[in-house]
Amino acid sequence: MANIGFIGVGNMGGPMARNLLKAGHKVKAFDLMPELVQNVVGAGGTKAGSAQEAAQDVDVVISMLPAGKHVLSVYTGDKGILAVAKPGTLFIDSSTIDVKSAREAIAAAEAKGMLMVDAPVSGGVAGAENAALTFMVGGSDAAFAKARPVLEAMGKKIVHAGGAGNGQVAKICNNMVLGISMIAVSEAFVMAEKLGLSAQAMFDIVSSSSGSCWALVNHCPVPGPVPTSAANRDYKPGFAAELMLKDLKLSQEAARSAGAQTPLGAEATALFSEYVQGGNGPSDYSGIIRMIRSMN
Ligand code: NAD
Repeated sequence: MANIGFIGVGNMGGPMARNLLKAGHKVKAFDLMPELVQNVVGAGGTKAGSAQEAAQDVDVVISMLPAGKHVLSVYTGDKGILAVAKPGTLFIDSSTIDVKSAREAIAAAEAKGMLMVDAPVSGGVAGAENAALTFMVGGSDAAFAKARPVLEAMGKKIVHAGGAGNGQVAKICNNMVLGISMIAVSEAFVMAEKLGLSAQAMFDIVSSSSGSCWALVNHCPVPGPVPTSAANRDYKPGFAAELMLKDLKLSQEAARSAGAQTPLGAEATALFSEYVQGGNGPSDYSGIIRMIRSMN
């Protein structure tokens, strides 16, 4: 069992840290919001007074932070955790961040003789609570081999996506597909409505035909056909539209940096921006069907 420092114990990091404790690891937690650290202490963890303290004298450091700038500021510089961790410490950053910052953080860790992976997740808060996350991991074979048993305490599927930053690449490619397909599915439901095809008939036929996709079958944007979808609870998330927009923006930043043309990704980003600007950021991303309906 490992001694683990955990930095960023919010909606995702909190339950992830608690699952590490359940699996028998020792967890020392830090967050800018002390009350969140208390939730981990209540589950058997200990409190660190700073990110640097969380990273001292531990085998593994896990971070779960909002964006690339937070990750770089926590990891690098004089006040960063790389400056104080013992040599050989394994770092796992599970935040969803831009590919460039992920690669920069890993290069900085490796320059200090540490092992580090980027390991963003899918599965949302429910996946974090049930230790059922999917981890998409980028980094060296040695770092992946060391990270795997730790990640297994928090997830069900652990995939090695290749070198540094490739976990983030996999995550944003996946979520770009998800954002585009939710819009396609929403357009089809609205068009079907206007042409007199019931939502249930449309679902039954398309879900077993060539137009079927994950967004339709799991997050069906109309109430009825998929009882667990957010549409049945007035689009309470689920997967918040603002997080979908964050990931789409990251996909477009990565596309620009690679010179990749992603016209549907760009359009999906524009449509989700409009949806979020309309005050719908906290609601489920499948609620975008309401905006598409209102365009009609
Ligand atoms: P959150 O805002 O609930 O948690 C982030 C935590 O980081 C906060 O508690 C904040 O206080 C803390 N923090 C920020 N800067 C810090 C610093 N310098 N030092 C210490 N703590 C700091 O967000 P979340 O929903 O837990 O998401 C975390 C990451 O996981 C994001 O990158 C998000 O995109 C990704 N993600 C979220 C979900 C989801 O459904 N919530 C799903 C997949 C991936």
